[in-house]
Amino acid sequence: MYSFDYQRPDSKAAAAAALSGDARYLAGGQSLVQAMKLRLSQSERLVDLGGVSDLKGITVANNTVTIGAMTTHASVAASAEVRKAIPALAELAGGIGDPMVRNMGTIGGSIANADPAACYPAGLVGLGATVHTNQRTIGADAFFTGLYETALKPGELITAVSFPVPAKAAYIKFKQPASRFALVGVFVSQGSGGARVAVTGAKGSVFRVKEMEDALARNFSADAVKSIKVPATDINSDLHGSAEYRAAMITVMAARAVAAANSR
Ligand SMILES: Cc1cc2nc3c(=O)[nH]c(=O)nc-3n(C[C@H](O)[C@H](O)[C@H](O)COP(=O)(O)OP(=O)(O)OC[C@H]3O[C@@H](n4cnc5c(N)ncnc54)[C@H](O)[C@@H]3O)c2cc1C
Repeated sequence: MYSFDYQRPDSKAAAAAALSGDARYLAGGQSLVQAMKLRLSQSERLVDLGGVSDLKGITVANNTVTIGAMTTHASVAASAEVRKAIPALAELAGGIGDPMVRNMGTIGGSIANADPAACYPAGLVGLGATVHTNQRTIGADAFFTGLYETALKPGELITAVSFPVPAKAAYIKFKQPASRFALVGVFVSQGSGGARVAVTGAKGSVFRVKEMEDALARNFSADAVKSIKVPATDINSDLHGSAEYRAAMITVMAARAVAAANSR
């Protein structure tokens, strides 16, 4: 990789202050360091968030699960509080990559990276989560803006993500067998805000399927979605699956996710 300078601040304020010029935050390094090794990404300076202790941790209060940006996927998967409040979220985290990725990768890094096949974007949009930064709060629906793009401004630091506890939820992904990224992943939930269906892996960014949400609002059952087709017109197509195949998988994964949510 290209050479770079390295800083390890010990507070959120110091981290944000360090992010000037051609610098980037470093969280678990599971996406950023890979890209740097391939020389697809270059920064003069990395600001390591690993020394900022108050970016880590999980709290559950007032029917809301709040997860610090530097909390690893493994910690979310293992959290008894998350498993009790939103088991689908713990399962999503436990299904990411492999043990090394889960022990290093963080929720903040995953959503800032906004990989089109990542799991957390579906969890955030599927639950109607809120992203907290050092400057503001951003609703999940407005956070993911495109392929590897988010609503974050330059230097803006994600501090936490809060999730409303749903009545029912599940995430089912059809995985790419080598990486475990989602060829198609669908997160469904039923909560006070209604039914949500969020799809990852099938377009440049996570998206909701309104026709399925309307059907689930009337009848939260697998039968309600199993015949709803998603047009293949703007769906991803690559060597792992054609647009038509992925579009068909959205319906299959959605029906399986609703069945899983109902079986808890
Ligand atoms: C082999 C492999 C398999 C994988 N499989 C899956 C999978 O099945 N599902 C899945 O969802 N993901 C998968 N991933 C990706 C993984 O989840 C990464 O952990 C995640 O994409 C990046 O998180 P990170 O903490 O490593 O962030 P980093 O790589 O350190 O950073 C990623 C980006 O986020 C920015 N950033 C980091 N933290 C913050 C913050 N707090 N505020 C603002 N910006 C920030 C960084 O500057 C950088 O641009 C896989 C990765 C690998 C290597």
